[in-house]
Amino acid sequence: MKADTANQAKPREIASVIRRILAENGRDYFWHYVFAVVCLVLVAGTTAFTAWIMRDVIDQIFYRHRGDLVALICLSIFGAFVIRGLATYGQAVTLAKIGNNLVARYQQRLFDHLMRLGMGFYNDTRSGQLAAQVNENVNGVRDLLSMTLTSIARDAVSLVGLVAVMVIQDPFLSAMSLLIGPPLIYAVAYLMRRLRRATREAVQINSRLIGAMQEATQGIAIVKAFTMEDVLSKRIGGLVAAAEQRANRIARVSERLNPIAEVLAGFAVSGVIAYAGYRATVGGQPPGTVFAFITALLLAYDPARRLARVQVGMERALVNARMIYEILDLKPQQHDAPDAAALRIERGEVRFEGISFGYAADAPVLRDVSFVAEAGKTTAIVGASGAGKSTLVALLQRFYDLDAGAIVIDGQDISAVTKKSLRGSIAYVSQQPYLFEGTIRDNIRYGRLSAADAEIEQAAGLAAADEFIRQQPQGYDTEVGENGVTLSGGQRQRLSIARAIVRDAPILLLDEATSALDNESEARVQQALGEVMHQRTTIVIAHRLSTVVNADRIVVLDQGRLVEQGTHAELLADPDGVYARFHRLNGGAGLGLVDDRGAGQDEAQPEAPATRRSRSSKAAGRTA
Ligand code: ADP
Repeated sequence: MKADTANQAKPREIASVIRRILAENGRDYFWHYVFAVVCLVLVAGTTAFTAWIMRDVIDQIFYRHRGDLVALICLSIFGAFVIRGLATYGQAVTLAKIGNNLVARYQQRLFDHLMRLGMGFYNDTRSGQLAAQVNENVNGVRDLLSMTLTSIARDAVSLVGLVAVMVIQDPFLSAMSLLIGPPLIYAVAYLMRRLRRATREAVQINSRLIGAMQEATQGIAIVKAFTMEDVLSKRIGGLVAAAEQRANRIARVSERLNPIAEVLAGFAVSGVIAYAGYRATVGGQPPGTVFAFITALLLAYDPARRLARVQVGMERALVNARMIYEILDLKPQQHDAPDAAALRIERGEVRFEGISFGYAADAPVLRDVSFVAEAGKTTAIVGASGAGKSTLVALLQRFYDLDAGAIVIDGQDISAVTKKSLRGSIAYVSQQPYLFEGTIRDNIRYGRLSAADAEIEQAAGLAAADEFIRQQPQGYDTEVGENGVTLSGGQRQRLSIARAIVRDAPILLLDEATSALDNESEARVQQALGEVMHQRTTIVIAHRLSTVVNADRIVVLDQGRLVEQGTHAELLADPDGVYARFHRLNGGAGLGLVDDRGAGQDEAQPEAPATRRSRSSKAAGRTA
């Protein structure tokens, strides 16, 4: 979402965005639009008619005293108002329906698209802001269409009708009053330029504001623990003030049109009355024509002003619509190859063959890493924080594409198989167990949608979760709070392990939790993990010494390079090795390991998950 394009919007861009919205959605609404346009034309026609009939009202009824025409004239005026009322209603309801349906469509489309975008996009985007921006902008698309249609069909047609009435009644006066057109158009164009930048800034600041509020409330426990309330309040205060200031600037600029329009209109109306008054007193003309003319002029003022303003409103809507298309036009990366086949797992052997990767082009994170995670065995990856362990796990799931080398599962390069089949063969247990809105049962079932209830309960049993689930108010049908706040850390971990068991995938990726659990939870989580690791190819980012010691193979990463591999005993046998050295010095702490032989509840990795998420990735373009 680049801010620098804000100043380059051209009027014809409005047309091109509208054309695109229509091309993508218009066909489905065709008859709705036809109906709305008919209604709008009726509104415009009846408005012009009321101005036109004024001449007869004045001349026939009041000047010539034609009593026989009173009923006819009054009836036609009444009829015009009735038609206008019904048509206004029909038009408004139809346009609102189209608008609401458009909003619904774009919401769905955006969500679907967001789900398909790559990890690079999310590395660069804050989720709260994204949600706020989507919400704010979607309404812009609706406004853009209904505004164009209303202004063109109702106001423009009304204006044409009324100007026609004016010209028919008095061409000279018409020419005189239309003189205010050019200065009005110039004023609008000038204001528009000033408005464009402020509008875009306002949308961005507002979404930052809403996003910041959302993040602060999500992290409320940290906020309170670190007494960050005042600091955050000040920071939000800055955004609040900026948003207010932008909103005021937009109001000042866009409302400036009103005094300009009023002055010009006052000039036209008084000019017309002065000239017509002179003609009536000196030339003795009947007053009907002038009355009809002035009525048309006064009636024309509103649509003309609205038409002038519509561009102001459209400007905002255009900014919104463009921001939406900026998201929709992002191409999801990691496409499946055109001839991609489904991954066929026989044994589940994973080979990393000389892989290199960097998030940014000039900063390699992994360099020429080769090792084999043998089928059905456990491979532990150890290394200090920042060594590239999480990156390795992300690459195996093809969240990013490699710079060099290949990852091969049972002889098949993962870049040549479908992502769906690849990820379907992997069960992933993240360090931060994430629960989604829904019941406990739903959350386990996300592992495999086809899982029967019995399978879910069996998996929960294996994950040592069945007991506490049954103690919940509605058992398996208990709704989890946002991010599972009603469950303890250990319980959440066991739910996410149950999800992995239900998935029943041949390859298990495990990012071991570093956070402290109480002794009992810890033991239960380890037991649950033992179940799911059984007879699966397991690759684990190991933080616990016991995991490492029991692994079939240990891979030691240091600054993106594989420096050693072997079993615990083999690695210890080389007294000069990285692993042995660290192990000797501080029980593995230099490798980010927790010595859990005792209680297993130390906090060894200070790296908070939040810092992981907020790292910026210059490679977004490549991976989004
Ligand atoms: P580990 O899991 O071993 O702590 P990571 O794989 O998370 O290490 O990180 C390895 C390196 O890659 C670090 O230098 C880190 O700053 C960088 N890195 C990790 N994720 C990203 C990202 N999304 N964008 C840019 N750089 C990243």
